[in-house]
Amino acid sequence: MRVLLTAAELASGIERLAAEVGRDARGTPLMVVGVLTGSIVIVADLIRRLDGPVSVSMAWASSYRGTATEPGSLELHLDLLPDLAGQDVLVVDDIFDTGRTMEAIVVALEERGAARVRSLVLLRKQGRGEVAMEPDFVGFEIPDVFVVGYGLDFDGTFRQLDHVAALDAADIAAARAAHSPSRSPDPPSCAP
Ligand code: 5GP
Ligand code: MG
Repeated sequence: MRVLLTAAELASGIERLAAEVGRDARGTPLMVVGVLTGSIVIVADLIRRLDGPVSVSMAWASSYRGTATEPGSLELHLDLLPDLAGQDVLVVDDIFDTGRTMEAIVVALEERGAARVRSLVLLRKQGRGEVAMEPDFVGFEIPDVFVVGYGLDFDGTFRQLDHVAALDAADIAAARAAHSPSRSPDPPSCAP
């Protein structure tokens, strides 16, 4: 695993994003909508740096299944959201890859009557965008590699890392083998 962004770099990125969001909101109450599950660490760190009235809610989106590292079909669940009519909303996601997740959520929240929907992502992968929209706030541009940590997972693991790391093909193969239920048991450490 190769460290791409250290905890210190992430902290200053969040600080900068919070300042940009604050300048844009100009004291208007903001409803932060985190995209589960990858955004939980970002939302927790970001909201503690926002001045002004903030409320928080969560939507759920998934485009990856298990050990896949390419997007599958997109599922959205918005049933945890409160009434958004007339609200200024900031959608927060971990990463903008093809952009399809963010675009679908922004459209869905506009359809629910939000007054204004802005989008924030911690990471944007270069050369991967497949939609016309651009996120309003971007923490870091990264190369087209599969990343984990600071909320981002591989098959449910690595979210707890305080940094962002790139997984190469060998890391992915090792993690897949470790998670496979058919893996052979570790050899006994001593003879019976
Ligand atoms: P998009 O819809 O923009 O293609 O994909 C966005 C979603 O895919 C993100 O919310 C994230 O869950 C997942 N994703 C995209 N790239 C990566 C990556 O490199 N690592 C991880 N862990 N998730 C990713
Ligand atoms: Mg996601």
